[in-house]
Amino acid sequence: MQMFHKILIANRGEIACRVIDTCRRLGVRTVAVYSDADRSARHVTMADEAVHIGGPRPADSYLKGDAIIAAAQATGAEAIHPGYGFLSENPGFVEAVEAAGLVFIGPSAKAIRAMGLKDAAKALMETAGVPVVPGYHGANQDPEHLSGAADAIGYPVLIKAVAGGGGKGMRRVETPEGFREALDSAMGEAATAFGNDAVLIEKYVEKPRHIEVQVFGDGTRAVHLFERDCSLQRRHQKVIEEAPAPGMTEAMRAAMGQAAVRAAEAIGYSGAGTVEFIVDGSRGLRTDGFWFMEMNTRLQVEHPVTEAITGVDLVEWQLRVASGEALPARQEDLMINGHAFEARLYAEDVPKGFLPATGRLTHLRFPEGARADTGVRAGDEISPWYDPMIAKLIVHGPTRAVALRKLEQALAGTQVAGSVTNLSFLRRLAGHADFAKGDVDTGLIARDLDTLAAAPMPCSRTQALAAMGALGLTGEAGPVEGFTLWSPLRRSVVLSHDEAWIEAVVEVQPSGAATVRVGDAAHEVARDGGLWRVDGAPVAAEVVCLDGSVSVFWGHGYGFEIVDPLAVAAAAGAGAGVIEAPMPGLVKAVFVKAGATVTAGDRLAVLEAMKMEHSLTAGRDGVVAEVLVEAGAQVEAGAALIRLEELE
Ligand code: ADP
Ligand code: ADP
Ligand code: MG
Repeated sequence: MQMFHKILIANRGEIACRVIDTCRRLGVRTVAVYSDADRSARHVTMADEAVHIGGPRPADSYLKGDAIIAAAQATGAEAIHPGYGFLSENPGFVEAVEAAGLVFIGPSAKAIRAMGLKDAAKALMETAGVPVVPGYHGANQDPEHLSGAADAIGYPVLIKAVAGGGGKGMRRVETPEGFREALDSAMGEAATAFGNDAVLIEKYVEKPRHIEVQVFGDGTRAVHLFERDCSLQRRHQKVIEEAPAPGMTEAMRAAMGQAAVRAAEAIGYSGAGTVEFIVDGSRGLRTDGFWFMEMNTRLQVEHPVTEAITGVDLVEWQLRVASGEALPARQEDLMINGHAFEARLYAEDVPKGFLPATGRLTHLRFPEGARADTGVRAGDEISPWYDPMIAKLIVHGPTRAVALRKLEQALAGTQVAGSVTNLSFLRRLAGHADFAKGDVDTGLIARDLDTLAAAPMPCSRTQALAAMGALGLTGEAGPVEGFTLWSPLRRSVVLSHDEAWIEAVVEVQPSGAATVRVGDAAHEVARDGGLWRVDGAPVAAEVVCLDGSVSVFWGHGYGFEIVDPLAVAAAAGAGAGVIEAPMPGLVKAVFVKAGATVTAGDRLAVLEAMKMEHSLTAGRDGVVAEVLVEAGAQVEAGAALIRLEELE
């Protein structure tokens, strides 16, 4: 058989782009599909052709198997690559693709079904001689029976939805007293998320490490491409992955690799798949201390770390095997070279419990020296419809220590403006002492969450740089516009950052250098030779101004909004008696009642606008005469919110 001439990619975002990259290299033409929300998305512009398939909701587009198959037929594509998520593990879709005379680039419907439910998969693996987590995975779902099973297993236990995925429908239970409540909530969540409330009970493995093995099959035989350690998780979701696993021994690797290959061959697996194991990390890695958790019958998000250490392009292998070629390598041909990390960059608000965020990425820059797999460009929108992933950053080095330093550098060199991201969190995690030692387990993030998740605060030097940016003073030293020979140019600006307003006064000297006063601090700031100097020392900071906001990238990224001076005057009351909304927004809180005595500077209310919270403060001392809004109200710019008593 011959390599495909044209394939359709039934996905979006970074994985669609990543598949297109390999197709281009192999001379395979590509067809993208897109929803209304993705009309000008990166994957659409990268593909040779693109077909619109429906509305923004996944159910109206990326999950519409029939529309996708019709698009493949209309464009003459011979095969469909499902990416991950969406239809990638849907056996009904595989059957429909094959019935339409097309090739599904992935395993058979039968293999997907065999691994689709965790209970049946565990039973199958037991028969195949693969160690499974001790527990109960039978059909009896009677709560009394399940709680008896938990007693027999011994606490702590883990309740898992058999149809589960993405960490949903999973509850850890410490004691028998907590079992019923946890069971009810796990079953409820499973019923809503998967339409199937059946659960299994597992022994909760202590100091658990998540180590998975990449496998690849041709339908009969399989090889493995070593392991990935995905123990850095928050709420059972992977954050940073690496390959190989720290502390891995040759004996353990051989045992896990063989078990994974047995699992794949037991179901006649074809294509790329991952066998996930939970490992007891409490006494080091031991060949009797790993157990099968589940098999993901698709390409996995974190596959690039395996590509980095093996030199294999897994998508190329997928295309070759799906087009009828034999397995491209024998086990003994495969080798590990160095160490690799992947960090998942998300638009999310980490201090607010990893809340997904949206926004237009006004500025986006990825570092040199790292592979950045992304589905967005500067100016693109992170929409509320899909996963808020911005990119995956992948680094490779000869040793783990070198690769980790490269990861830290890659994260430091990544710049995003326009949305909150988890970048600072990733940087802190990359610098975590236990992680550096390779002492990882799935509880690491939760143990140090407060330190890892805290938002970095901009120091006065960062604020001074932001002020320069806000005033457009980002050019080379030299005559500044509006500069007069006989007196320094003096300008002031108000910035807001994380609910706080920052007032800065900038005096530009005839030399072009400036004195910036922020709060009690004063800094000399100059720009020369393309570099910023603060108090005489060159700093590796970059200032980017866009759309009324300024970002300073200096170690971390700090976003500031430029506050309209008129709004400042209005909000401060400027001695007047009425506190007005400086911009349209949502009143988040009102802190005073009529009759309250206030002092100039007191916080009276909080307005949420432009994705920021703005404190509205009293412009003078006085007594509250009237509160004109309630928390929760949507207000227009200039709306009167609070009235202070008239001054005599
Ligand atoms: P798991 O966490 O089960 O081991 P992965 O780490 O490979 O699996 O993550 C796959 C998950 O990514 C899917 O289950 C889905 O929730 C999410 N996803 C689906 N489609 C996309 C996409 N286009 N971009 C980013 N994430 C996606
Ligand atoms: P999902 O389908 O949601 O990916 P998994 O069964 O793969 O569910 O489990 C997700 C995560 O939950 C694992 O990566 C691991 O961190 C944790 N986990 C699962 N089973 C156990 C267990 N028996 N003991 C301890 N932790 C577990
Ligand atoms: Mg899993």
